[in-house]
Amino acid sequence: PLVLGIETSCDETGVGIVRGTTLLADAVASSVDTHARFGGVVPEIASRAHLEAMVPTIERALEQAGVSARDLDGIAVTAGPGLAGALLVGVSAAKAYAFALDKPLYGVNHLASHICVDQLEHGPLPEPTMALLVSGGHSSLLLAPDITSDVRPMGATIDDAAGEAFDKIARVLDLGFPGGPVIDRLAREGDPAAIAFPRGLSGPRDPAYDFSFSGLKTAVARWIEAKRAAGEEVPVRDVAASFQEAVVDVLTRKAVRACKDQGVDHLMIGGGVAANSRLRALAEERCERAGIRLRVPRPGLCTDNGAMVAALGAEMVARNRPASDLELSADSSLPVTDPHVPGNHDH
Ligand code: ATP
Ligand code: MG
Ligand code: FE
Repeated sequence: PLVLGIETSCDETGVGIVRGTTLLADAVASSVDTHARFGGVVPEIASRAHLEAMVPTIERALEQAGVSARDLDGIAVTAGPGLAGALLVGVSAAKAYAFALDKPLYGVNHLASHICVDQLEHGPLPEPTMALLVSGGHSSLLLAPDITSDVRPMGATIDDAAGEAFDKIARVLDLGFPGGPVIDRLAREGDPAAIAFPRGLSGPRDPAYDFSFSGLKTAVARWIEAKRAAGEEVPVRDVAASFQEAVVDVLTRKAVRACKDQGVDHLMIGGGVAANSRLRALAEERCERAGIRLRVPRPGLCTDNGAMVAALGAEMVARNRPASDLELSADSSLPVTDPHVPGNHDH
């Protein structure tokens, strides 16, 4: 099926077009530079930017794919979770296009899309797939027997998300926003064993699949403050490398353990933090040792984009999942257990 996907849950206006598991177009307009001045995403600015970028980005995607909107088999859109106003722009646009073109509408889950996008790179997802979803707002281990209808949380962060921790540490180090890519780059020139930062929830009595990054964040911030107070120079590269190592060590260890415990031989890693080069390398190493096949999409498909929404929408069409109706509304806290938002079916 030929499906167009619209993503506006945060600061990226993404429009992707896929045919089944083949990527035809991936157009993204980001307002990140505007938010950088404020050190984080400002919801009102994001909504306005989506409004301005929406139609041009849809047109750019159609042009890139070389298809006509009339030939689409469906229009998919992120229904949640995310920023309410930002989501609303995408949902309204998708409804307008679906109505005007008389095409089925699929309101889908942003988190399930972060997983499903890997089909565009590595082909159909094995069932079940274990997914480590690590992004700006989420850090979870999910077991997905069917990405269109059955996603089960195994564990999640009890405080900060992994991406949030990267962004906060970058702020303490005055590295700008978003912090993940900068820390990733600096860490390559640092020593990951220079400072022993704590590994959250890693004791024998701690929950096996849950994460905690707020203690780590505090420990790193205190360490930096102590250096500054002593008038010493902060070894930014070593701090970045040691902090990053503490995050990816716990993420990969728990993900591999979940696969082993559940007898799942595939691990998928998705979400913005999956773009992290050290996370990718350590996961590769540990999965190989454990006999687990690792699937991580290329970095451009890990961060928010429209192709991931189109990928999940195409899977909904392929599996004859019920379309959403035109009363579809955005749900800023759509639970991860709802891969899509079907309609009422009284028509
Ligand atoms: P969610 O998907 O939970 O709604 P989001 O959509 O804001 O959150 P994504 O776009 O999926 O998040 O990811 C953004 C996050 O990924 C930011 O916190 C950013 O710092 C982080 N990130 C991006 N690239 C890297 C990298 N190379 N290393 C570490 N973190 C990264
Ligand atoms: Mg973003
Ligand atoms: Fe995201």
